[in-house]
Amino acid sequence: MFKENLPKEITVFEVGPRDGLQNEPEYIPVEKKIELVNRLIYANCKKIEVTSFVHPKWVPQMKDAKEVYAGIDKRDDITFSALVPNVRGLELAIESGFKEVVTIMSSSESHNMENVNMTVDRSLKEIEEINRIAKQHGVRVRSYIATAFGCPIEGDIPVEKVLDIALALESYGSYEISLGDTTGMANPIMAFEIPKLIKESLKKASVAVHYHQSKGIEFANILASLQAGITVFDGAAGGLGGCPYAPGATGNIATEIMVDMFERMGIKTGIDLEKIMECGEYAKSLSSSCHS
Ligand code: MG
Repeated sequence: MFKENLPKEITVFEVGPRDGLQNEPEYIPVEKKIELVNRLIYANCKKIEVTSFVHPKWVPQMKDAKEVYAGIDKRDDITFSALVPNVRGLELAIESGFKEVVTIMSSSESHNMENVNMTVDRSLKEIEEINRIAKQHGVRVRSYIATAFGCPIEGDIPVEKVLDIALALESYGSYEISLGDTTGMANPIMAFEIPKLIKESLKKASVAVHYHQSKGIEFANILASLQAGITVFDGAAGGLGGCPYAPGATGNIATEIMVDMFERMGIKTGIDLEKIMECGEYAKSLSSSCHS
């Protein structure tokens, strides 16, 4: 590995306030969620996934999406996004003032059914419609492909299937495709090959990786993807997101450790290391039972 072959700077996409907190079994008050987002803003995170507009029956923790976004110290140089599972969620996000939304679907039929209760084809149609409406409102769309490195139910997922979905999402207008290792099944060879193939096959959309904790292997995966030319990395402050009540759902990779690693390598993240470390501690303090 030669430093001259690596990027000089990368982008961290912070998902803690949404992906990190959504599984918390006890409701976290709005003020604390706002405090977490504000701390991430002060740490200079430039991309923050703030919340999601999912029906409260499915994700009660995110029922305060509108209030959280209304309460944070917004800055023009920071992109704030909200996860939307369907067109209804998109409408609520637009009403609340979001300029970017994030969609999610799995490359695995069974996981997609479990997660969003749709077939893969149905999800694609929904995301096409989300892109169509979002475009009319000047809202950008980022898209996750979950279980891109394997599925806890189906096992291996052919990379061609992930690629087909990525190409479809790009054709609808999604500006970035984030490949999710939903349950920590990736290894560094996959983390090199899969994002590289997809990045080389897409014409406009960029590729991000979204790793979950896997006994430390997640950091080797980050390094492998970096070497494959990936420059956008999802992370959650404090490594939140896992929950012992949801078997197989490990926590997200911890943003602060990822930032520490990049900065030690001389790769700029733009994030204040000391402040993001404090964000990690604060995020962990909000987690009642899912400490990572
Ligand atoms: Mg995640």
